[in-house]
Amino acid sequence: MSETTTNPPKNNQRAANNAAPDFWPSNHPPDDLANKRAEWAEKYRESDKLAGIETTDDFTPFTQINDMFTRAFWDKKIHSKKTDAFFQGHRVAISPRRAEGFRQKDLALRNAAWAVSSMLSSRKGDEGKREGFQSAIEEGGPISPDKVDASDTAQMTGEIKKLAKLFGADLVGVTDYDERWIYKTRVDTRDYSEAEHDLPEGLTNVIVMGHSMDHDLVATYPSALAGASSGLEYSHEAGIVVQLVTYIRNLGYQAVGSMNDTGLVIPLAIKAGLGEYGRNQMVITPQYGPRVRFSKIFTDLPLDHDIPQKIGVREFCDICTKCADNCPPKALPFGPPQATQPNVSTIQGVKKWSADCEKCFGYWAAIGTDCAICMRVCPFNRKGDNWQDRLFLKIAQSRFRKLALWWDDRSTRADRVKPSAWWGSK
Ligand code: SF4
Ligand code: SF4
Repeated sequence: MSETTTNPPKNNQRAANNAAPDFWPSNHPPDDLANKRAEWAEKYRESDKLAGIETTDDFTPFTQINDMFTRAFWDKKIHSKKTDAFFQGHRVAISPRRAEGFRQKDLALRNAAWAVSSMLSSRKGDEGKREGFQSAIEEGGPISPDKVDASDTAQMTGEIKKLAKLFGADLVGVTDYDERWIYKTRVDTRDYSEAEHDLPEGLTNVIVMGHSMDHDLVATYPSALAGASSGLEYSHEAGIVVQLVTYIRNLGYQAVGSMNDTGLVIPLAIKAGLGEYGRNQMVITPQYGPRVRFSKIFTDLPLDHDIPQKIGVREFCDICTKCADNCPPKALPFGPPQATQPNVSTIQGVKKWSADCEKCFGYWAAIGTDCAICMRVCPFNRKGDNWQDRLFLKIAQSRFRKLALWWDDRSTRADRVKPSAWWGSK
């Protein structure tokens, strides 16, 4: 959300026609999608079952021009003065309001939190690249001509995880380079046309890192102040990704750093064992619930893969609708997961809970900042540093989950904290 330009797109037509040039994946000429679907169904049957990922016969990799933040620039249905003001407002504190959480100091803090991420994402605008959001991060230096011996993959995986945490990641897992989740094309931000990725050949693994958001800032959603919790983690992850990429390249292996760009991180985070998918469209982790942002590194460094973990989220979400109930524009679904797309901003052919991103982003644009009420109210959003939180999680993950929900209903845990209370706290 650190858009660098608010100019309307010069070339809507190409995107509007969805005339996708087939560069995907890794800049290959296209393979036949029908054959690919059959190959994927076979290859991922077992691991998808473990991860709770269900694809249907019309599965189609996502094209990034259709993501909501990109459509806000080229799609006349989405683009408006409000969406322009939304992005511009993340660069400079404009139009502060009298309402708590939207005053100039709140906007200033949010924008300061985003500053490092914005610096990275804006530096290659002339080349149509928005690193970390609409193109991979081109950083990390040359690859050493001497490869270290990585035949002991267990040791190498342990060291990579240790270093990810040393650099500042809160969670780290490893999965395979599952090409289904790589965007079919990236976006050239000069004209919002489709462009090929610059991924090298031979990538085999993805290191997925989780970055926990500040609990007390999240408690003030919706507010510009709360948006600092997102910006902070994007800025943190930018540095962490570049540091780990540099390390791997110094070992003599390929490594490409990525935040929201290049591919969908949610299925990769689930496959890497970091958490389970929830109704609020987020990965719910045992440590931080849904209060986590994810980054990723594509590499050919030999590593062991983690196993997806079931922590009872699916079962809990089946009896809980707090996120959907509390969503102001009613963008989140009730009922079981569906394979239908609310609109083109949802990937086709995955049976899951999907938000109506048009409604969701419409609300963001209306309030001039991001929203994560669905994160704040989720019963899994807990600090986890007290016995009540630990007991809740135990019960929530057991067959007594209705009792956990009953208990959560009666607590003040999810109540919005006033921004003035946040500023006044020590
Ligand atoms: S972020 Fe806000 S608007 Fe979007 S789905 Fe969550 S609660 Fe609804
Ligand atoms: S609020 Fe309830 S339904 Fe929504 S993600 Fe959290 S546990 Fe699932």
